[in-house]
Amino acid sequence: MKLAQSYSEILERIQSIDPVAYGKSRNFENGKVTELSPYISRGIISTKTVVDALRSRGFTIQQMLPLVQQLSWRDYFQRVGQHRPNLDREALRAEQDPIAHHQLPISILEAKTGITAIDRGILKLMEEGMMHNHVRMYLASITTNVAKAHWCLPAKWMYYHLLDADFASNFISWQWVAGASRDRKYFANQDNINHFCNTNDRNTFLDQDMESFPLKEIPAVLKPKTGISLVTTPVETEAISINPHLPTCLYTVYNLDPQWRQEKEYNRILLLDPLFFERFPMADHTLDFVVSWAQKIPGMQIFWGSWDELVNYCRGQKIYQKEHPHLKFWGTEVDERDWIFPEIDGFFPSFFGFWKRAEKIIARW
Ligand SMILES: Cc1cc2nc3c(=O)[nH]c(=O)nc-3n(C[C@H](O)[C@H](O)[C@H](O)COP(=O)(O)OP(=O)(O)OC[C@H]3O[C@@H](n4cnc5c(N)ncnc54)[C@H](O)[C@@H]3O)c2cc1C
Repeated sequence: MKLAQSYSEILERIQSIDPVAYGKSRNFENGKVTELSPYISRGIISTKTVVDALRSRGFTIQQMLPLVQQLSWRDYFQRVGQHRPNLDREALRAEQDPIAHHQLPISILEAKTGITAIDRGILKLMEEGMMHNHVRMYLASITTNVAKAHWCLPAKWMYYHLLDADFASNFISWQWVAGASRDRKYFANQDNINHFCNTNDRNTFLDQDMESFPLKEIPAVLKPKTGISLVTTPVETEAISINPHLPTCLYTVYNLDPQWRQEKEYNRILLLDPLFFERFPMADHTLDFVVSWAQKIPGMQIFWGSWDELVNYCRGQKIYQKEHPHLKFWGTEVDERDWIFPEIDGFFPSFFGFWKRAEKIIARW
């Protein structure tokens, strides 16, 4: 995947989206997906930016619908996150069952499951920090429903490597696959993977009829397991200097919006809090991605430390932040995030309740 180097490059990409081709091919590993998630997850653009651009280009609702629906999944997960802030460690509905252990299969960590599409997907995840949605589903299914590992640590491992790592989209998706957020589990067999990933694997542990799942035995290649420790490397920073006559805009790993409050002058600080990374560790390439986008915002300073330490620097001044369920800092003035459907703001146990409300609004577009 070629990463965008500037905000205008992201906007150009949005302008070049073909929503019809997207709808037809998005489930295929080589389908015409947008690859916008790193920029959406990091708050560089919003889901609404993408929807507004599609609408202004004059597509019909039918043409836009598949992409609008996927973007709505993201907003839906964010809303769940607002109401269930511990969803990275607590099942939304019922605990996964059965569970053999709370570790990770070594063959997954080493990209040696023997399933070509999964192994190359894991390598891409480690090297580029990206993975196609279907491959994420296959991998989560093999880990939780075939190897019977509890969803929590593997989800944290995937989050660690993803450029688009998002606490809601990631952990809820793992729960969804493992049957912790709903009363079903997700399975895919080898035929399904071969079809969507253009591979020809045969005689793998997934080469079974769908009726054979869940498998009675954990396949031998998935049995050796290990715990892992995920460490965030501290970012080397210079001492920050705060202009005492200006308010401060606070940026985080989930808010790197270069358009935010640009009409006036502010101190602009990216807060990287080690305590946050203890709970949500990030790989070097992900943190590099965050820092590189922060540095594109003029005047940005990077602070590696706690909120309390930062407040000492900004004593008495107004501090603005953008709303986020996991990065709530006391004493700040909170700006709302952009949503596709700001009016749908409650908790919905399933996407379909949310989507029914959304469809009524879309019908009026
Ligand atoms: C196990 C698992 C873990 C995941 N972890 C994350 C994560 O940490 N961060 C993340 O942003 N997405 C996550 N997803 C959702 C999805 O895989 C990615 O958003 C998608 O692959 C990003 O690629 P894209 O931008 O080309 O998507 P496109 O298909 O082009 O979709 C456009 C946008 O819609 C949103 N979107 C699309 N599909 C989904 C989906 N299934 N759920 C939520 N939003 C979606 C994303 O913002 C995406 O950028 C996860 C899915 C699974 C199954």
